[in-house]
Amino acid sequence: MKVHFWGVRGSIPSPITSSQIQAKINAVVQRITPQDLESFDTREKFIAGLPDWIYGTFGGNSPCVQLTTDEGKEIILDAGSGIRVMGKSKKAPADGHYSLFFSHFHWDHICGLPFFDHAFNPSVEIDIYSSFEKAEEYLALQMPSLQLFPVLWENFSRNFKFHVLEEGKPYEIDGMTVRCVKMSHPGSSYSFSFEQNGKKFVYATDVELMDIQTSNQEAVNAVFKDADAVVLDTQYTMEEAQAKEKWGHSAFCYAIDFAVSMNIKKVYLFHHEPMYDDKKINSILNAAKWYSTFISHDQVKVELAVEGVEAEI
Ligand SMILES: [Zn+2]
Ligand SMILES: [Zn+2]
Repeated sequence: MKVHFWGVRGSIPSPITSSQIQAKINAVVQRITPQDLESFDTREKFIAGLPDWIYGTFGGNSPCVQLTTDEGKEIILDAGSGIRVMGKSKKAPADGHYSLFFSHFHWDHICGLPFFDHAFNPSVEIDIYSSFEKAEEYLALQMPSLQLFPVLWENFSRNFKFHVLEEGKPYEIDGMTVRCVKMSHPGSSYSFSFEQNGKKFVYATDVELMDIQTSNQEAVNAVFKDADAVVLDTQYTMEEAQAKEKWGHSAFCYAIDFAVSMNIKKVYLFHHEPMYDDKKINSILNAAKWYSTFISHDQVKVELAVEGVEAEI
């Protein structure tokens, strides 16, 4: 299976600012030596050697992750503002079908849906999965009248079908075995595991791992144990996680500790804090890598979820 990150930012879409671009240009200029400017080749080599946090950006769209199965079925995880970019960048699937999973219905995870081009295509059908009985009601609140959005929910949602998933129960969806588990987050959120051909991928956003519930340990194990890759909420630094207890997010240290306890092979740091620039997020990545080496001897690989990046699981 393949995973593609379309939105990785938490809480609210956060476009890069002018001062952040100026800081990147300053950082480039400060690094150049006269030798770097000698020829086309030396200039190209200099550019290729720039770190990712300077030569690009990790992304400002709110959560949306696309999973493509080995048979080419398309699954979408959350419909934050990243889903708008997905709809603009990619054609609808050949079979005209998406499975769309919602971790929960906080605004940053649903705000892109009314802007998803393919949802307006009458030949596209979308099966919507979550563990919330009132999923449709929550989504409809975004488009209740023409004064709030120029399309009404009842017209927009004609090709949507809603399904409620039970925690811990295995389901066969799009040729994958899918499970979900309730996690600690204000109003609750659910993490999902997807298994196919011996590979296991988990989407676990908006989770407070410091406050993880133990009543559902069996379901937690069924979803997370021995996963090949897990997209994990790591919005906070340690200080913030302490100061913002019960806000529903995690620090990278808790994510790595949790990954070690669940024998997870790779963690993608996700749901980046909207106040952080790329330099700060890169420093969190480096700290998380250091901590993983220290605590797990690199048993847990750490990567950053970066908008626009596709990875094979
Ligand atoms: Zn969120
Ligand atoms: Zn949330």
